[in-house]
Amino acid sequence: MTALAHVLIRQIAQSGPLTVADYMSACLLHPTLGYYTTRTPFGAQGDFITAPETSQMFGELLGLCLAQAWMDQGSPAPFTLAELGPGRGTCMADILRATRAVPGFHAAAQVVLVEASAKLRALQAETVAHPHLHWADSVAALPDQPLFLIANEFFDALPIRQFLRDAAGWRERLIGAQGDSLTFGLSDPIDPALMDPRFADDPPGSLVEICPSAPAIMAEVGHRLQKFGGAALVIDYGGWRSRGDTLQALRAHRFDPPLAHPGEADLTAHVDFEALCPPTIAHSALIPQGTLLTRLGIIDRASRLAKNLSGPALENHLAALHRLTAPSEMGTLFQAIAFFPLGAPLPPGFDLPHA
Ligand code: SAH
Repeated sequence: MTALAHVLIRQIAQSGPLTVADYMSACLLHPTLGYYTTRTPFGAQGDFITAPETSQMFGELLGLCLAQAWMDQGSPAPFTLAELGPGRGTCMADILRATRAVPGFHAAAQVVLVEASAKLRALQAETVAHPHLHWADSVAALPDQPLFLIANEFFDALPIRQFLRDAAGWRERLIGAQGDSLTFGLSDPIDPALMDPRFADDPPGSLVEICPSAPAIMAEVGHRLQKFGGAALVIDYGGWRSRGDTLQALRAHRFDPPLAHPGEADLTAHVDFEALCPPTIAHSALIPQGTLLTRLGIIDRASRLAKNLSGPALENHLAALHRLTAPSEMGTLFQAIAFFPLGAPLPPGFDLPHA
């Protein structure tokens, strides 16, 4: 049993079952026993490898995409260059390197990393170098100025609640304890008026997930984009409307039962992109990561980098290109969407949504 499992079982005995969101929050960000607060999980030694950790090309191309969007909006200065959940800071470091030659971009940028984990903030301070570099606890704390933002594998780490429909109505999936094990259970039927109307016609047997904090974060981003200008790129795994149980734990590159190792495994859920879209701003169509990176020029960039490589380094580089773009790898599992002010140009590489 993990140290956090002890804590949670005692908490359940004292104050009753947890929602899946309570459980996810504790697992990921418990102040002393949480996954992101106690470890640096990324990379070959860690539990999973994200796109920026796979290849520098990911951050470079998305950085150039943001820089083009910035130029298309008249190169506003100063502006905030922000990342939500920057992990090791690799993506922002690649964004900054790739945009060095964009006239005025670095001088106008104030880099803000929105990060909850003090341990990861310390690591980001070593990776990201910029004269105006700050950290923020939330999007609401960003400066009041144009905002160019990226979030890769951030929303999948936000706590979700799960609801199951049976003949009696919707019930919330809860986590209780039996002896020294955590177990899933269900609440009494809940007031149907509390459920998202998108799920009104779901038949008995359906399981849906709601990420309560994601729409609030995107509403704040949207408010800033519409008021001050800018663009936000969100890349994650999931779909336009996520359905079914997608709560998943990863430990040492293997799937793990979600209740087995609280605090010692990464926990994520698919992102429901439809629920992210604030009604007050424009958004692109949701497109596969592979399509976006191809349109932004990953093949050219890969060939240029390949010229200086040989042997295992070249093989790794080509494997990374495949991993980022191939439909059988991250290319379609991961999806990308851009948000921008009504009336502003669509950021490069994206499509407008179907009318
Ligand atoms: N974007 C990085 C890391 C993804 S992991 C990459 O692609 O490699 C998720 C990141 O989000 C971690 O940095 C984690 O500490 C951070 N995070 C999770 N929940 C958060 C929250 N509520 N507020 C701010 N950061 C959070």
